[in-house]
Amino acid sequence: MKIDQFPSEMQVHVVPRIGGEYFYRCIGCEGCFGIEELLYTCPKCGSVLLIEDRERERLKEISGAKWRRIFDHRRMLNIPALSGIYRFHELLGSIIPLEDIVYLGEGHTPVISANEAMKDWAGMGLCYKNDGQNPSASFKDRGMASAFSYLNYLINKRGVRNVLAICASTGDTSASAALYASYLCRNVKSAVLLPRGKVTPQQLGQPLGNGARVIEIPGVFDDCMKVVEYLSENFSVALMNSKNAWRILGQESYSYEIAQAFDYEVGGLAVVVPIGNAGNITAVMAGFLKMYDLNIIDSLPAVIGVQSEHANPVYLYYLEPEEAARQFRPVAVRPSVAQAAMIGNPVSMPRVIRLVEQYRKIAGEESVRIVQISEQEIMDSMLVANRNGHIACTQGGECLAGLRKAVAENKIDKNRTAILDATAHALKFAVFQDKYFFDTFEPEFEVTPKPELQNAPLLLDLPDSVPSPAKGKLSAAEFEEFVEFTALRIAGVLDLKHKKK
Ligand SMILES: *Cc1c(COP(=O)(O)O)cnc(C)c1O
Ligand SMILES: [Zn+2]
Repeated sequence: MKIDQFPSEMQVHVVPRIGGEYFYRCIGCEGCFGIEELLYTCPKCGSVLLIEDRERERLKEISGAKWRRIFDHRRMLNIPALSGIYRFHELLGSIIPLEDIVYLGEGHTPVISANEAMKDWAGMGLCYKNDGQNPSASFKDRGMASAFSYLNYLINKRGVRNVLAICASTGDTSASAALYASYLCRNVKSAVLLPRGKVTPQQLGQPLGNGARVIEIPGVFDDCMKVVEYLSENFSVALMNSKNAWRILGQESYSYEIAQAFDYEVGGLAVVVPIGNAGNITAVMAGFLKMYDLNIIDSLPAVIGVQSEHANPVYLYYLEPEEAARQFRPVAVRPSVAQAAMIGNPVSMPRVIRLVEQYRKIAGEESVRIVQISEQEIMDSMLVANRNGHIACTQGGECLAGLRKAVAENKIDKNRTAILDATAHALKFAVFQDKYFFDTFEPEFEVTPKPELQNAPLLLDLPDSVPSPAKGKLSAAEFEEFVEFTALRIAGVLDLKHKKK
């Protein structure tokens, strides 16, 4: 819709005004730092940062009800820069001019209600939000759109040159960073560090295809992260991991979209996310808190974080009920099918601690829960989800397993509707489905396939007496014989009934 066709009180708002004064706030010492330079950690105390808007109060001059109308009207605009996460421009990037925004089709992923069979299986009502339908097939594109839009702004408006975007990755961060960097290839090159053998073939192919320099390192993600941190501290590179607070800001869009999809009535929802480096759960909480502060929503949804037994440092931290007695200890990870979340020392842990505290202060102790599930439960849940019309990856399976666990352990009010984050597309993690179907899991995974969830193609072998198209061109009669023989075999296998003549 064209601007002049909007109601007049909306015309001045649908295209956002550039404004605000963003700065980095340190989670540790509360220090404030300008955003002109890319910072990843506090120059004073070394802790991680979040981005805040010094002029946020100006947004309260507009009522919550009006913000809702603005965002809903913006849906009808046909301006590419505002078609993705920047529909919520004022909440996550109000200093970035529209012409610098990089839009590759991220955001506004569908929310799919589970069918009755799956609701029964889960024990309550639920939907999947399919973040695997982002351009590089994972939710990481939300944060990358933000980080690269800001980078593009620095290049276009502040003369930044010769950027090398770099990240460590469990697979999806590198796929996403390489994609966005390739769009800006005149000014940006990218390099990604991957733990050798710990990303799927699809995830390895993605950054290669986008022209990134791909470097494989022996070890696990946590080791790659240390190397990339060293590089970002000592060399001139743009770090694209979620340590980069612009990533967190962009990922808040996930919460904004959930709010919009439910007409801003989110108090009865439970948002379920897998936890790896803990950037996603940080952003989800930060996003809902921001909307609550601006009266865009009037209550907060419950949040459930899920971790595998094989990579569970956040779960272990919150096991201790006494806040003062909690102590964060990194864990050594074991092989996990939720490989994208196989992280023992999450970079965003200080952010999580801070935000959980803020969230619980408003919505109560029970509002944020962390549950732990087994590798077996992750695989079984993913397969069940996908047998009921979904496209969940292993981490999406982790969410469903976590929801069932929360129901079983009475950690969730069953009258809520759960929104499960299908963080990536099922296709990216097909290797784990294969291991399940063909029973080839290495023992460390501790997964035993359930026959009722296995599946494999059936090869129809033809006896030598039947003409086969694989052996060369058939005559009309031979071809007919082949079709009839094969069709009858299939009818037998599928137990088909003859049509009444
Ligand atoms: C990165 C990732 C996660 C973990 O998210 P964090 O922000 O690191 O906690 C989960 N699932 C998928 C598919 C991912 O790519
Ligand atoms: Zn500090």
